[in-house]
Amino acid sequence: MAHTGITMYGTLWCGDCKRTKKFFGEQRVHYEFVDVDADPDGLAVVERVNQGKLIIPTLVFEDGSTLVEPSNAELAAKLGLQTAAKNRFYDLVVVGSGPAGLTAALYAAREGIETLVIERAGVGGQAGITERLDNFPGFPEGVSGAEFADRLRQQAERFGVEVLSAQEVTSAGADGDYRVVRTADGNEYRAWAVLLALGSTYRRLGVPGEEDFIGAGVHFCATCDGAFYRGKDVLVVGGGNSAGEEGIFLTKFARRVTIATRDAALSASRVIVEKVQEHPQIDVVTHATPAEFRGRGKLEAVVLRDTRTGALTETRPAGVFVFVGLMPNTQIVRNVVDLDERGFIATDAMLATSMPGVFAAGDCRAGSTKQAASAAGEGAAAALAIRRYIEPLASGIPRPADLEAMAG
Ligand SMILES: Cc1cc2nc3c(=O)[nH]c(=O)nc-3n(C[C@H](O)[C@H](O)[C@H](O)COP(=O)(O)OP(=O)(O)OC[C@H]3O[C@@H](n4cnc5c(N)ncnc54)[C@H](O)[C@@H]3O)c2cc1C
Repeated sequence: MAHTGITMYGTLWCGDCKRTKKFFGEQRVHYEFVDVDADPDGLAVVERVNQGKLIIPTLVFEDGSTLVEPSNAELAAKLGLQTAAKNRFYDLVVVGSGPAGLTAALYAAREGIETLVIERAGVGGQAGITERLDNFPGFPEGVSGAEFADRLRQQAERFGVEVLSAQEVTSAGADGDYRVVRTADGNEYRAWAVLLALGSTYRRLGVPGEEDFIGAGVHFCATCDGAFYRGKDVLVVGGGNSAGEEGIFLTKFARRVTIATRDAALSASRVIVEKVQEHPQIDVVTHATPAEFRGRGKLEAVVLRDTRTGALTETRPAGVFVFVGLMPNTQIVRNVVDLDERGFIATDAMLATSMPGVFAAGDCRAGSTKQAASAAGEGAAAALAIRRYIEPLASGIPRPADLEAMAG
């Protein structure tokens, strides 16, 4: 995480504070959080900055400058993120900057294909927010997700890839020979080809209270929020590899970690299950799943349902981390390309989707293995397929750079 000397003054219940925390988490920006409900000195800072008014979040930066209730765009500008592209036409637009997107981009750019990557959150995708990648080839000691993401980005930029972050793509489609993507800020980018490297998102439980307490006791990213629970007891929900790995990671901060799985046993790999069972700070509760999150402003209690009997019990962890699977981030193309029954993008062996010129790679693709190394491999394969697709197209028609020049 970048150490930026940022202090955020807010409360656990304020919606804009949650949004700002999410933004910093996605951008992997380290910050100090001061809960002004519990800290009179923090409250005094907020009142001083806002001429006596209580406006949160109030952010104080290392150089003494301040931002009050900033939008994500203002935060992005303050952090110096590039959010608009230099051109309107590219050979290739890649949507998503995880291992699949960035690998494709660097392969393509190295071949002279002008490439723009558009990322709605922080560069690196899920791999970037993972505590540690232990199984990516070439890193015998493992590598932190943040370092891995930074390295990938640097490598892509070395070959001339342009990377926009904090910029969401809202639609992708076709206009004649061109593929077109639109972003949330109203910009439109055209290219010969588009690669969808959209990845997946943590699945939610969908039970009462979950939405209300996101960022105020309910979390989906241990790397981002685990440190808030130093010396406290936390509940991890889920039984797979993520629940096991993140549960182990949380023991760095939490006093005790309870992992609740709705099944009779953890379904994680044998290595992870053994680590969990041997860990002195971890308990596993089976046949248990949250039925409700309760509290006033912040999470105070979790009602657990016994999946065999339906019996309800109440537990009071300081925080809950939910790891119950992934959903593909494919909503923006659900009426554009063919998806499988779970919403993953269907492709042929060359990673082409049902729309010519639109390719897909990595975790968002049906049949992908949901691993960083395979996502990177698919990215490389997609770049080579895209090169073959672009070559005949681009030879007869002015190249994007020429069109840019013609457009003035
Ligand atoms: C907790 C955890 C631990 C993991 N540990 C390991 C491990 O140890 N080893 C391993 O190999 N793998 C691990 N994985 C899996 C690995 O991180 C993923 O398989 C890999 O990151 C997938 O890469 P991707 O590029 O396909 O997608 P992602 O990494 O998910 O990247 C997709 C990107 O697309 C962006 N995006 C989506 N929609 C839009 C849009 N509309 N506009 C703009 N941008 C958009 C997203 O913000 C995201 O950054 C782990 C995953 C998690 C969650």
